[in-house]
Amino acid sequence: MNNREIFQRLIAQTSEAPVGLEVVNAEGLYLFDNKGNKYADLISGIGVSIVGHRHPKVIESIKNQADRYLHTMVYGEHIQAPQTQLAAFLRGILPPSLDNIYFVNSGTEAVEGALKLARRYTGRTEIISAKSAYHGSTAGSASLMSSTFFTGKYRPLVPGIKFIEYNDSSECDKITSKTAAIILECVQGEAGIISGSCAFFKAIRNKCNETGTLLILDEIQSGLGRTGHWWAFEGLGIEPDILLTGKGFGGGLPLAAFISSKEIMHSFAAKPVLGHITTFGGNALCCASSLATLQVIQEEELIAQVVQKTDAIQLIARHTKVSDVRIAGLWAAIELADSEAIMMVIQRLKEKGVLTDWFLFNDKSLRIAPPLNITMVELNTCMEMLLQILNSL
Ligand code: PMP
Repeated sequence: MNNREIFQRLIAQTSEAPVGLEVVNAEGLYLFDNKGNKYADLISGIGVSIVGHRHPKVIESIKNQADRYLHTMVYGEHIQAPQTQLAAFLRGILPPSLDNIYFVNSGTEAVEGALKLARRYTGRTEIISAKSAYHGSTAGSASLMSSTFFTGKYRPLVPGIKFIEYNDSSECDKITSKTAAIILECVQGEAGIISGSCAFFKAIRNKCNETGTLLILDEIQSGLGRTGHWWAFEGLGIEPDILLTGKGFGGGLPLAAFISSKEIMHSFAAKPVLGHITTFGGNALCCASSLATLQVIQEEELIAQVVQKTDAIQLIARHTKVSDVRIAGLWAAIELADSEAIMMVIQRLKEKGVLTDWFLFNDKSLRIAPPLNITMVELNTCMEMLLQILNSL
């Protein structure tokens, strides 16, 4: 069997029509397949390759760490420089109250850890989530999804979860002294880039303060410069009690984290001890990759360039076939008439060597989330191709 046949026969599939690109190499913005085709990755492997594929500094850092050690002991027992140096870097780009980091392997694990932490710290059980939110696929995270389309067949899920309308401040009254936490995305990604309003988030923050409820912000896709700030919450004028990061955080290796204050996080350490355990969370190789990635974002001043690059995407709104463009920095949803048009555009862009995608809860919109270090020339070339395809529809 060749690799394609093995992929189809032996590797579990999550849809009946996988993209099936046979990747042999990746460099910067581009993926290369086994037929020598080159593809501009305009979605960063869904928000992961935030400084492009195989950035030399990230690769160097991974190689240096591979020469020292990979795994030595489960999380939290040994002092490992890649973890501590990464924690020290994070300290510099976070508000003082977010000074304690729990490293895990994936976004959904960060969500699970945060839910447990909130229940443990507050002694309450109720959790509030927003309609059309996406927080991951494991049982706890899936319970935060309002769409029964994706979760209906897996019920019963975790009990004690209520939903509110996103961006509707009048819903704040659902937060009470029984609520352990409310979890929100600053930008609802899978709903098709719905940016949170300052008024909504301020109202939520006030209600949380009033009721002693913890505010968990899921910045797994929106963080690390994507929206033009290190963290999207900076643009909303509020701070969370627990912050979640993942995806691009590992620089292409699996790493995520939930971040809180030392006081809140201490709930995991005593009575009982070992409140949350992970074998691989904070793996040295992943942390080395992460630190180099964050340093690249800082040294190459990528966040300051987001606005200019956003403008290049925004121009597409003028096209008559485009009914809406929703943008949160270098993260955009380009809405067309219907899902057929989206599928056609995705396919034609792929034929022209540009990879895009749709959204879980919005199939009328095209997903664009390139690496932050995409050049203006690369971005304009991709947008020109999109324009040509829209003209031909
Ligand atoms: N939260 C958000 C906002 C996400 O976008 C995702 C992944 N799409 C997750 C959580 C889950 O992350 P993971 O797939 O790494 O478990």
